[in-house]
This record gives sequence, C-alpha cells and structure tokens, in this order.
Amino acid sequence: MNFFKNKATFLFIFLIILFVWACEQDTQWKGQPPIKKVSTETVPIQLQYKGIFDLGDGVFISNDYNGARLNGAARTNDTLISVLITPENSPINMSPWYGFKIWSETEKEISVKLTYTENAFHRYYPKISKDCSSWKVLDSLKYQVVMKTRKEKEVPKNLTMQISVSKDTLWISAQELITLSEVDSWMDELLSNSFVSKSIIGESREGRPISLLKIGESDDQKMIITISRQHPPEVTGFLAMKAFVETICSDIEIAKKFRAEHNVYVVPIVNPDGVNNGHWRHNFGGIDLNRDWEDFNQPETSAIRDFMKEKVTQTGGKFYFGVDFHSTWEDIYYTISSELKGNMPGLVPKLIDAVGNELPNYKPNVRPNPGTGHKITSAAFFFYEFGAESLIYEVGDNTPREFVRKKGEVSAMKLMDLMMK
Ligand SMILES: [Zn+2]
Repeated sequence: MNFFKNKATFLFIFLIILFVWACEQDTQWKGQPPIKKVSTETVPIQLQYKGIFDLGDGVFISNDYNGARLNGAARTNDTLISVLITPENSPINMSPWYGFKIWSETEKEISVKLTYTENAFHRYYPKISKDCSSWKVLDSLKYQVVMKTRKEKEVPKNLTMQISVSKDTLWISAQELITLSEVDSWMDELLSNSFVSKSIIGESREGRPISLLKIGESDDQKMIITISRQHPPEVTGFLAMKAFVETICSDIEIAKKFRAEHNVYVVPIVNPDGVNNGHWRHNFGGIDLNRDWEDFNQPETSAIRDFMKEKVTQTGGKFYFGVDFHSTWEDIYYTISSELKGNMPGLVPKLIDAVGNELPNYKPNVRPNPGTGHKITSAAFFFYEFGAESLIYEVGDNTPREFVRKKGEVSAMKLMDLMMK
C-alpha cells in the first residue's frame, strides 16, 4: 500500500512538520532568562603589576599600556611561554580579556599558552597587530584549544598559539584594542560636524571623564539615548554603535531631516576605567555596571541617570528610544516585552523586523524580557523610568566585522525611517 494514501499518516506527518516549524519560530523569540538583582556596592579590585617581563633568551613581554591584561608570564621550556590571565575581582562573568605585546632580540618561532584562574575558561580567539592599530584574527591553524568539563558542559580551558617574534613588537589581544584615546579621536572626527557637540557628564570611579555626544539640532522634545562599553571587552558592540552613530551623522537626506527633529545623546564608553585597565567585565568599583540601574551605587551609571533626568525636567521633552550595545556569543536583541507600551509602542519590534527584512540570510534572534518592572539593566531603566522604547543590542564576538558595520548602518536607517513616520 502506498504510504501517503493513508490520510491519517499524512495528517500525522503534517502535524509533526508544523510542530517542528513552531518550535523553530519559538527559539527565535525565546524569553530572556531573568536577571538576578545583586549588590552593586563597591568592592576592592586587584590591580595588575605593569611592566616588562624578561623571559630569557632575548624574549620580552609587556603589559605596560592602556587596555593590556597580563597577570603573569613564565618560560615553560625553550619554545613555550605561559601567561596567566586573571580577573579584576570575582565572582565575574566569564569574559577573560587579555592583551600584551611581545618581542625578541632574534627572530624565532615560539608558542604562547594562555592560562586562566581555575574556574575560568577561554572565550576570545587571538587578534594580532604589528602597529597596534590594524588587527587581524590569528589563523586558526596557528592555535590549539584544550577543552574541559565545567557544570556538565564542554568549555575551552586554555589556548596555545604559535607566533613569530622579532625585534618588531607584536601586539596580541582578545579583540581589536580600542581604548579611550581611539574613542577620543573618533569623537573629535564627529565634532567637525556643526550639529555634533561634546560634554562631560561625570567622572568614573578612577577619575576619567564620562563623555557624552549630542547629535542633532532639535529642541530636545524628541530624544534618543545610546550607550556602549559598560563591559570593557565588548568591542563588537562598540563597532556596531559606531556604525549606528555615523549613519545618524551622515549627510543622507533622512539623517538631515531626522537631526532637525531629534537629538541623539551618545555615551560611547560607559566604563572608561574598565576599558583602559583591561578589565574582564567590571568598573573600578568591582561592579558589573549593567546591574546598577536601580540602586545607582556607581558614578558611571549615576552620571547617565542624572543627565537624562535633568534633560527631561529642563526641556519637558521625552526619550523615545534607548539602545545599549554589547557583545556575546551571537547576535541577539534583548527587548522589553512587546505587551508593555512606552512612548512609541511597537517601535522596537518594527525596527527588528525592518532590519531583518533588509539583510539577506539574516534572521533576528529576539529575547523579550518578561517585564518585572525592575530597573536592573540599562534598557529596563530607559523603559521603566522614561518610557523609552529600548533594547540591548548584542553582537557576536566573532560576527564578521563587515556585517557588524552593515547591520549598525541599517539599524540607524530603519530607526530614523520609523521614527519619522
Ligand atoms: Zn555586555
């Protein structure tokens, strides 16, 4: 008997296909796991010893620059050097940032093993640079990863890379090194536009300025807040923010019209101490800043809160949109539940759909927050305090940089388009 002549069997198979399809749809809109409220009161951090380590045989390694992280180095044998990477304090999210430079009096091939504290595991594939400005990913044939079991999951324990060293310094880093000086130069470039201005809205715990850009020539009735680098290693999120902001500053017609009606406020580096000290995650107070948007125990979060509150009080305007750029394993949007209405209901789902439709072969991965009313993270604070339609824009650590840029540009275009309608 022909299998498909049996109607019941056909219906059964159809239902299975429907079920598998529905499950797949569901994974694209899987709810965000609840974020636990933790204490954000300042705790001590461990500072790095900064200097040049003489490893013998004419080889030297250094962490004596901004954004570096190297907590120890030792020669294991003729050709192997082991380095130790530890966090600023713990407990901490596993994003072990590392950065050091290495050189040798004579040209040779050596291996460098990245080792971490016992509970940590490796996250970032090495990026290398000969001028500390242009970076490339180290060829995957040039490193080996050893795995271990942690909480019943296989995770990378350490990584050993083969590199050529010479008198010319080689920089090795978890991601492209973008510290405060690079960001200052970028802001200076934007300041050549008459519609961009910069101010200092506060000081970090270690005394660095929290810089804010204002883009636009409107009367502050319609405002947007954009932030990045609460978590220092999250460079891909920063690159997306850069593309997003540059598109709003560009001389395309919609951007000009948009800037006449809206002001976009940008804090490119929320955690300058963490960035320049090469932290894994926290600020100089040992705190994950993206857990401090309810209690405001840290100066960095407080500066942004005070700025936004003052703006609204002084102008009577509203924040319509808020976006906080981050990086994780993959591209994800953490959104506020679409059942909750802010100042422009539906803006975020429409934006994500429009971006998804514009980019071929890209399916947005969205994780709505159940909506507890807790302002633990920035996006929740922007929404519950100001009614700004908000989201956390996560970019994958390994997402191709060209795509990061493209999506950042498209996001800005679609946002301007939707907000002008
Ligand atoms: Zn983050």
